[in-house]
Amino acid sequence: MVSTAIVKDKRYLRHITGEYHPENHHRLEVIYEMLEEEGMKGKFREVAPRIATREELEMVHTSRYVDQIAATYGRDYTMLDPDTSTSAESWEVARLAVGGLLNLVDGVMKGDYKNGFALVRPPGHHAETNRGMGFCIFNNVAVAAKYARQKYSLERILIVDWDLHHGNGTQNAFYEDPHVLYFSTHQFPYYPGSGSIGEVGKGEGTGLTVNVPLPGGQGDDEYVQIFKEILYPIAEEFIPQLVMVSAGFDIYFQDPLGAMDVTPRGFCRMTEIMMEIARKCCQERLVMVLEGGYNLTGLRESVEASLRRLGGMEYRGMKEDGRRKRLTGTNEIIKSVRTVQKKFWKTL
Ligand SMILES: [Zn+2]
Repeated sequence: MVSTAIVKDKRYLRHITGEYHPENHHRLEVIYEMLEEEGMKGKFREVAPRIATREELEMVHTSRYVDQIAATYGRDYTMLDPDTSTSAESWEVARLAVGGLLNLVDGVMKGDYKNGFALVRPPGHHAETNRGMGFCIFNNVAVAAKYARQKYSLERILIVDWDLHHGNGTQNAFYEDPHVLYFSTHQFPYYPGSGSIGEVGKGEGTGLTVNVPLPGGQGDDEYVQIFKEILYPIAEEFIPQLVMVSAGFDIYFQDPLGAMDVTPRGFCRMTEIMMEIARKCCQERLVMVLEGGYNLTGLRESVEASLRRLGGMEYRGMKEDGRRKRLTGTNEIIKSVRTVQKKFWKTL
């Protein structure tokens, strides 16, 4: 059995943002090219996407906002915020991004394959219930978590967001929800501004938002340490029935938007930790979805590293983890997060 599935579709290239926009169609072009290379071609089960229904979108988004995006159909350019715009087919493409992830979730939940990676755009984690922002139109991962909860009666879903930026939209979608644990590492203070240690959820969702804000400079070892010392114990106590990852590759060491220091080898190790959590808690059910990542070489190599790990294939890239120098201060950050989260998690 092929254990790993991917979602890829040329239609995702038709959300046009312009050559000079970092979130442009070349991002998926380089990933799709990599998938055609020897050693990658034919190694993954390809899952066809579908257009998400209005009902599915409205599990997260207001009907008024869905109408607003529908109204952009056929128009060359509509600005949603200073960074985010639609083109003539974005309404279709954005629904196809959500629907691709939903189909991937279905296969994982039905046991057709163990894990998968939705290689889709536009990304989603900044999208709020009532507005698009930060290159995102619909919140792919948030809709998918609500969908999985409803369709498969899941009580506990873990969303790990390792994108450079804080996933404000995802955090807000589940801020008072006792069923979805949102864990984010991100550069801070930085766009979009949210994601401080003290944001821990509210009401019934208190303790189910875990933010690890980072000053920049964190690389492979630091991310692995943070996942092992904060995420792993919390996940073991939460026992998710499905693990989802908002996989942003803008923490790559040469990304033009960020100041992190992660190499493809680091993404391989980070993916391994996600797989360990899924193995331990939920019969290996793991679904990853592409968020950011704007250095095309880095994106291509890092997605390859993650996919190879997911599929149990050897990763031969970069032997060294490329660290320039050992970074100090990570222990202090971990300690601060644990101090705040200790109230909610016995294991800490
Ligand atoms: Zn990002």
